[in-house]
Amino acid sequence: MGICKTLITHLIIILAFSAIGCIEKEPTNNFVPNHTDYDPVEGLPDSLHAFLKYKTGTIAFTNATLIDGTGGNLKVNQTVVVNNGVFEAIGSDSSITIPENTKVINLKGKTMIPGIIGMHNHLHIPGFPFVGDIASKLYLASGVTTIQTAGAAIPHLEVDLSKRITAGKQIGPEIITSAPFITGKGGNPNMIIPKNEEHLRDTLQHWIKQGVNWIKVYRNTHPNDLEIIIDEAHKNNVKVRGHLCSITFEEATKMGIDGIEHGLNSASDFRTNKEFGLCSGGREYIDQLDLNSPKVKKLQQLMIYNQVFLTSTLSIYEASVPNRAYADQRTQNMMSPYLLNQYTERRVRFNQIKDDLTREKRLKQIMQFEYQFFKMGGLLCSGVDAGRHVLPGFGDQRNFELFIEAGFSTEEAIQVMTGNGAKALGREDIGIIKAGRRADFVILDGDLRVDPSTIEKVETVFKKGIGYDPQKILSDINGSFGL
Ligand SMILES: [Zn+2]
Repeated sequence: MGICKTLITHLIIILAFSAIGCIEKEPTNNFVPNHTDYDPVEGLPDSLHAFLKYKTGTIAFTNATLIDGTGGNLKVNQTVVVNNGVFEAIGSDSSITIPENTKVINLKGKTMIPGIIGMHNHLHIPGFPFVGDIASKLYLASGVTTIQTAGAAIPHLEVDLSKRITAGKQIGPEIITSAPFITGKGGNPNMIIPKNEEHLRDTLQHWIKQGVNWIKVYRNTHPNDLEIIIDEAHKNNVKVRGHLCSITFEEATKMGIDGIEHGLNSASDFRTNKEFGLCSGGREYIDQLDLNSPKVKKLQQLMIYNQVFLTSTLSIYEASVPNRAYADQRTQNMMSPYLLNQYTERRVRFNQIKDDLTREKRLKQIMQFEYQFFKMGGLLCSGVDAGRHVLPGFGDQRNFELFIEAGFSTEEAIQVMTGNGAKALGREDIGIIKAGRRADFVILDGDLRVDPSTIEKVETVFKKGIGYDPQKILSDINGSFGL
């Protein structure tokens, strides 16, 4: 693709994104961050030093209530030793010898979890094609230490931000980048709509060379195009995920897709009057569907057998349920006057709806579909899919509370949000708290198992062994998200 064409594509993408809602995508391979080195704090501009609480070195945490991200039982009275950005030793307080001259931090009454891996965590929101600078701070302050952006509106800005964060020039999570969304005829005009096979393969090659790690296909993608996309991506060691509609979960799974978004809400397998290759039919299927039926279980088994992961985005769905769609005070504090005004107007409309049992029931069905998939052995991940009043990071935390509501145990919910994300990304250096892994973790002020809202009480976020102060980061953002 020539420079002119690329510029035009960017322009079209920017224009289109002011009109559409949620979009998503996937990672690819060129720019692979070095997972073993830690943030060069000394390279951090002076203005960012204010956000640091602990600067690398060796630290021993004692008396921790630990959830390690594997799904294993919560453990109390744990000692965790971090050295040079990596977990060095983990065990009961009595079993770990703390090296001399080590800084010791007593975590009595606090919970330690792995850094959250946001698997559907855009750097854009409806109307704003790139909010990466502030979104990345919101993610980090909320305990999200790695994101896969699940589709990009302006991919080169994502790649650039990802590199700046890795180089320590900016604070934020590790960003695993995506190409522009790809869709098909009748789809969002701001996305790439392939003209023919050559155009499609050229476009993918272009973005893979720019350094994106994942490809995201959107709702109107033609089945023939998805086959080409998967072929071209996999040849280049890049993965593919889809917010599907024209293609069913079963079809995409059989073609070899790596991940599927949004769970039951996008499962056109069950749509009434679904036509092959078209995004047709309605969503009433969600209300009627018997989740215990053989057709549902067979589909979930097929995905599990083919190792297709499913990404849950409960918090953004909840934002469309009128009697649940409230922004809490801290969220309102972060929003720009423009976003706050949008929220207020939406609430006025929602307040006129006495109750919407249909949407509430759909949320419960979506939850149950995911819980069942997880319990059957499926690789369930989670992401925020930020939008409306569901903010980057805050919405990831809300997902945890919704998983608990759906019936997941505390340990299972954390596993979905951390260890499972690492598995889906094919990463063995992050996601769980284990000796040798990168020291990405979160200290929560309280007992997470007793009170799920403890997920919002982030005391310190550690990424590569460096501790960040969430309060300082958030007070810096105050009122500027969505300016
Ligand atoms: Zn999305």
